Amino acid sequence: MKKTNGSPEASTLSTAWDYTPSPESTEHIHLEKQYELFIDGKFVKPGAGKYFDTINPATEQKIASVAEADEKDVNKAVQAARKAYDKVWSRMPAAERAKYIYRIARMIQERSREFAVIESMDGGKPIRESRDIDVPLAANHFFYYAGWADKLEYAFPNRKPNSLGVAGQIIPWNFPLLMAAWKIAPALATGNTVVLKPAETTPLTALKLAELIRDSGLPDGVVNIITGAGKTGAAIVGHPDINKIAFTGSTDVGKLIQKTLAGTSKKLTLELGGKAANIIFEDAPIDQAVEGIINGIFFNQGHVCCAGSRLFVQEGIADTVIRKLKARMESLIVGDPLDKNTDIGAINSKGQLETINRYIEIGKNEGAEIHQSSCTLPGKGYFCKPTLFLNASQSHRIVQEEIFGPVLTIQTFRTVEEVIEKANNIPYGLSAGVWTDKGSKIFNLTSRLRAGVIWANTYNKFDPTSPFGGYKESGFGREGGLHGLQPYLKF
Ligand code: ADP
Repeated sequence: MKKTNGSPEASTLSTAWDYTPSPESTEHIHLEKQYELFIDGKFVKPGAGKYFDTINPATEQKIASVAEADEKDVNKAVQAARKAYDKVWSRMPAAERAKYIYRIARMIQERSREFAVIESMDGGKPIRESRDIDVPLAANHFFYYAGWADKLEYAFPNRKPNSLGVAGQIIPWNFPLLMAAWKIAPALATGNTVVLKPAETTPLTALKLAELIRDSGLPDGVVNIITGAGKTGAAIVGHPDINKIAFTGSTDVGKLIQKTLAGTSKKLTLELGGKAANIIFEDAPIDQAVEGIINGIFFNQGHVCCAGSRLFVQEGIADTVIRKLKARMESLIVGDPLDKNTDIGAINSKGQLETINRYIEIGKNEGAEIHQSSCTLPGKGYFCKPTLFLNASQSHRIVQEEIFGPVLTIQTFRTVEEVIEKANNIPYGLSAGVWTDKGSKIFNLTSRLRAGVIWANTYNKFDPTSPFGGYKESGFGREGGLHGLQPYLKF
């Protein structure tokens, strides 16, 4: 049955349909009641016997208890990684190492359904995304870096690439399995061993990956996965026997880590916040651009550091774009992450929903005009309506600060110079999008926008062969592609 949403646009341009619910089955997945730390190839209890809960943000129900690692547990994990590096991994022929990495990739593919369902349960993202984006991309990163393991001399001709030793890796909650793959795959391919910590709200797919790694026969201690919150992360950063820290997370924590590591010999890469400009010119294919805007900000509930959260529309087409955007928003389905019809799932945690709602209030108080889709949110769980702020101005906090939710600010512009200045006038520099029919305009903008990744006539496209990373307060270092090998090597 066709459902209209009241507004004239909604009834003429775009309508939401009442789809029969199509929830993904959870019967085939196996979850423990309690998860331990994965150290030296085994699951071991935390020394202090502390555990925390991980919950399903769509139902607010507890899924499992998860071990909290303290400094002593971190030390055990680092010792295991060091021993595995010295005795096994650094001595193994690179082609042999590659076989293990390929095996991990294939096993992720074999268990992809299980990973996708658990990712959506623990993190709140729609199953369509975890199934079609997160999990296949995670497998592809292992495949891609497996290929480089025995070809490093060709990747860096006339230089002698050597591994660093033990890598400490700390990841956030927006792409839990994919971030683990981004970090672990290049570290292993370059001959390093790993201590990885997932975020405290989304530990389950990393722990499932630990089970998979154990089953793969990877030598004990090459990958250690330990859980906990900021204190555990800080213990990894501060451990004296770690050679490299790779961090993805907030700019505040990134700055703290940079201070801790100043003056040490540890290598560091930081992938931090973002506030991307998505720029639509008058000559753009408007319908595709509207889809790109929707994908750019509502994909994964806006829990994407490269989310296209600042929309710049050229004045002549602003009314049309906004009208189409509002209509398209009406057709977005917000709800159960495990339902295959869902476009926007649950916000990852109560704390994050509060942050987003706080910014929505700030935006209203700053004088921007709010527009939200008329959908009804589920009664339980952490959900947020897709939200636009019209007439936003450059000085508004909702324009300057990262919200990390499904909230889009809209500004108009007249000239190329004006939009470049506005797009760059921000502390971040992670990504941007440009929509235009003219190749020359694309080249002009891509060379002048200060952003690490710029998509042209598309948005949020990822590939293991393509480097990713930022400028300014978005961090430094690149992950993915050939560039992603370099931070794990010395020459
Ligand atoms: P977000 O705001 O996206 O949750 P955070 O930077 O707080 O980002 O978290 C990203 C990761 O960093 C998580 O795994 C978290 O546990 C970890 N973390 C938080 N505080 C610290 C810290 N002081 N040192 C190291 N890691 C930390």
